[in-house]
Amino acid sequence: MSKKTLQARRLEGTDANIWVKFVTLTAAHKAVNLGQGFPNFPPPDFVKDAFVEAVGRKDTLMHQYTRAFGHPRLVAVLARLFGKLLGRELDPETNVLVTVGAYQSLFCCFQALVDEGDEVIIIEPYFDCYEPMVKMAGGTPVFIPLRLKVAETGKLISSRDWQLDPAELEAKFTTRTKAIVLNSPNNPLGKVFSRKELEIIANLCVKHDVLCFSDEVYEWLVYDGNEHIRIASLPGMWERTLTIGSAGKTFSATGWKVGWTVGPDRLLKHLRTVHQNSVYHCATAAQEAVACGLEKELERFGKPDSYFVQLPQRLQQKRDFLIQNLVAVGMKPIVPEGAYFLMVDLSPFKIELPDQANSEEPYDSRFAEWMIKNKGLAAIPVSAFYSSQQKKNFDHFIRFCFAKEDSTLKAASDILQEWSRQKPCL
Ligand code: PMP
Ligand code: GLN
Repeated sequence: MSKKTLQARRLEGTDANIWVKFVTLTAAHKAVNLGQGFPNFPPPDFVKDAFVEAVGRKDTLMHQYTRAFGHPRLVAVLARLFGKLLGRELDPETNVLVTVGAYQSLFCCFQALVDEGDEVIIIEPYFDCYEPMVKMAGGTPVFIPLRLKVAETGKLISSRDWQLDPAELEAKFTTRTKAIVLNSPNNPLGKVFSRKELEIIANLCVKHDVLCFSDEVYEWLVYDGNEHIRIASLPGMWERTLTIGSAGKTFSATGWKVGWTVGPDRLLKHLRTVHQNSVYHCATAAQEAVACGLEKELERFGKPDSYFVQLPQRLQQKRDFLIQNLVAVGMKPIVPEGAYFLMVDLSPFKIELPDQANSEEPYDSRFAEWMIKNKGLAAIPVSAFYSSQQKKNFDHFIRFCFAKEDSTLKAASDILQEWSRQKPCL
């Protein structure tokens, strides 16, 4: 065997992946899947049909490479849409980059703009890939948790009750801070940051000359009249913000892997360098279909027949159905203001798990694995969305995804009801 080290050092500590583990487990046990975040209902016909039409077109160019940084029709409509949302004129060529899902946008941000020794602030709980991506770029993640700011009463807790402590946040900004990652609406908590909260973050970014990578993949999924505010629209923020979106979430088509980054050319040009030397471009027909979908949505923007209006209405009903059923069996859900996940406090269901051998693993992780195997129901342990320092403090929550057919939610609820009937003899 060669004495050379096989694994590149930058991969150290990044080999475990929650999705790989739980997707495999869920499939092996044929569990009812409220785990991985994807809708199990189809994308809307107007976008699906556009994809089929694009693939079937006589024009052979639909099957070949398109422009590296985004299919012309797609960057044109993205520039129009985000120009409207951000209140500024955008250039499709220099202010928009199309990527292979939001994942690749994030990867480009970290690779292009984070250097060895740079610090990147990450708000906990966070979408798990931020941490390994910062590390692979040679940066150091600096974590700050959202903290529950209300006393527990009989009432359900909302994602709004989880807040940043402004002084604690300010203390995380140092001369080494290069960027902060913002994710609103947040995965897994469903928190939608208020204007006041965003202003605090924005002021610190401006004061300390820090970039903001704003992951807004759930931008259309807000409930109860909440408003999604784009941090790039706040004073002083456009020049330092990269706004990331995903057609996977926007059109319920996670398998298409079309994402984008919108931002100033001074930042985007560096992302283009990473992109042209790694992925080069993403699937032409998928981009064409997403372009058609966005064109349609722009025409009926804000109207009742808009998918961006209808999808959150549909999801809010699903959220409420799941919450009712969780409460009925004694679980304590945290009501999300946005995205399509909800976190559940397991405390009332806390049980002595038979397999204590693996007790290095956080409780929620062992619980979720046990639930798949023994109850046929899949959820994701929330400790996976925390840094190693915080995992032990947040090891009693699991995350359910409610972007599922009503029949799937009903099947999950039946399992929970049956379980609660047997609870004394768990
Ligand atoms: N950011 C967040 C917060 C996510 O939940 C996900 C998962 N869908 C992504 C980014 C990645 O999105 P995509 O599937 O478009 O790569
Ligand atoms: N974003 C999705 C979630 O949070 C899935 C990510 C993945 O499967 N890699 O569930």
